[in-house]
Amino acid sequence: MKVKRKFQGVLLDEALRYLEHSPEVTIPKLLRLLEPWAQLPRHRHILQAVVTAWEDENNNWRRLLMRAFDQLAPPVRRRFLTNFLLNASLEGIPRGHALAAEHQINVPWAILMDPTSRCNLSCRGCWAQEYENTADLSLATMDRIIREGKELGIYMYLYSGGEPLLRATDIVALAERHDDCMFCAFTNGSLVDSQLALTLAQLGNVALALSVEGFAADTDGRRGAGSYEHMMNAMDHLRHHGALFGFSTCYHRDNTAGVVDPAFVDSMIARGAFFGWYFTYIPLGQHAEPQMLATAEQRLAVMQSIRQFRREKDLFFLDFWNDGDSSGGCIAGGRRYLHINAHGDVEPCAFVHYSDTNIHNVSLWEALHSPLFLQYRQNQPFHENLLLPCPLLDNPARLGQMVAASGARSTQHRDRESPEVLAAKCLPAARLWQTKAAEIWNEHLTAQ
Ligand code: SF4
Repeated sequence: MKVKRKFQGVLLDEALRYLEHSPEVTIPKLLRLLEPWAQLPRHRHILQAVVTAWEDENNNWRRLLMRAFDQLAPPVRRRFLTNFLLNASLEGIPRGHALAAEHQINVPWAILMDPTSRCNLSCRGCWAQEYENTADLSLATMDRIIREGKELGIYMYLYSGGEPLLRATDIVALAERHDDCMFCAFTNGSLVDSQLALTLAQLGNVALALSVEGFAADTDGRRGAGSYEHMMNAMDHLRHHGALFGFSTCYHRDNTAGVVDPAFVDSMIARGAFFGWYFTYIPLGQHAEPQMLATAEQRLAVMQSIRQFRREKDLFFLDFWNDGDSSGGCIAGGRRYLHINAHGDVEPCAFVHYSDTNIHNVSLWEALHSPLFLQYRQNQPFHENLLLPCPLLDNPARLGQMVAASGARSTQHRDRESPEVLAAKCLPAARLWQTKAAEIWNEHLTAQ
């Protein structure tokens, strides 16, 4: 099997070289060459869907692929295929599943790390203000996490913060050291200049998710004057050099209509974005503004709009709270991902600021055995209705139960918020969404 894979790898390398010259001819060949790597039925299904999409000249996924070949620098195309598609997904996911089944723990597909809790902005309602904003993960610690992760088949690493590009030098160093991994940083874009964009395009294995809240008025309204322009300038630099980027948006009571406006999505595509990542506002910590929580109608509008966009737009969409039916519920606690903050606290999720384990004291393998992560594994999915995936936002009592059972503590150094206080802020919105989600889920079950 190994020899066969090696041979297929050589063929793939060859195909990638041809790809530079004639994508229209080579892409179908490349898709066929990827088939032996697709061990899971879900992966085979996705590959087949891409083949089918490719055969339709008007298909939005075909347009997305052609845009990738027009816009992205050759190292980016190559690293995306080998690092993201092969290493992280087609090979990494089955390996993680096998380890998880053998050891009865969760083994993630991706690790999200905060290189720093420092930030050069001060956005309204941002959770970063609840951590002490002076902490950094050292280069050596991040390097160790990645090395230990690769032994478990984890080749996907994301950065949040704080503003991760305050550590751009180390992010570049890690991408060079681990040129078999894919990286993506969530950034406000203010530190992206032409030189950094060129470096990322030459590396090929670092994508950026630029934070935006809609058009200029909504973005500057939450993130500060000039933020939208900084983000647009960053996109222009990245596009010019052929680096991979998308946008990340947080929808809340005041901007939801703007971020589901097709004109906004079209503007991101026109600017050169390849993916759009939708999150919703969570009222974490003492500076939170619970009135910013999206209403049930707004959450439904996001869900329906994104599902429609996926049929029409040449952009890859991720809907963090509303894709539970395709992800099998909550992906945290190492089931698909985990979060390590700038202090080294290993948290189930970027939005769950409780931990019983610090990466400075344990290996990644030991962290996956932590009591809180085992609680997640035992309790997932948190609701039979997969449109209610979250133990924090949709089923607020569940998080407190797991924190109590595991002995985990708040990692928010500034206010040490208890899960009960947080749950009380989420409960009114949760009750309204539970009613709406039950209606949709029942219709879905009836349709089946
Ligand atoms: S804990 Fe909530 S926000 Fe985090 S992955 Fe699970 S469902 Fe999503």
